[in-house]
Amino acid sequence: MQLEALYQQVILQHYRHPHNRGVLDAPDAEVHLRNPTCGDEITLQLHVRDGTIEDVRFSGQGCSISQASASMMTQRLKGKPLAEADALSARFTEMMHGSAEAAVDRNLGHLRALAGVARFPVRVRCALLAWNALGEAAKQVRTNGPG
Ligand code: ZN
Repeated sequence: MQLEALYQQVILQHYRHPHNRGVLDAPDAEVHLRNPTCGDEITLQLHVRDGTIEDVRFSGQGCSISQASASMMTQRLKGKPLAEADALSARFTEMMHGSAEAAVDRNLGHLRALAGVARFPVRVRCALLAWNALGEAAKQVRTNGPG
């Protein structure tokens, strides 16, 4: 219970003071996604150079879970190769599908605060929205060639 309260605080902290909120000039990839179930919306933008995410921003609106997930995700992406972003995304998705092993993976850092969301299938979509946008953005970059 104490851990859950702590996690709740981490989520609210990111919701109230999101990291990397804003808009990039001339992004190499830009994806807009909606989660109609909850009304969450996100626009995710990436600057990618030589396969590495140099900068990332998101905008949009939604519930605390969707916004906190986007904030925590973007925090982890800056300076990371796309392949590493893919791996992180796969791990996070495993956690959202209830993997207990993923939920204690230190690699996920603050993102583990969202582990409890796995118990609420409707909210899992909120948590995964930013990550789905990331997957689409990575696809754009790979299609258009390195930035
Ligand atoms: Zn939501």
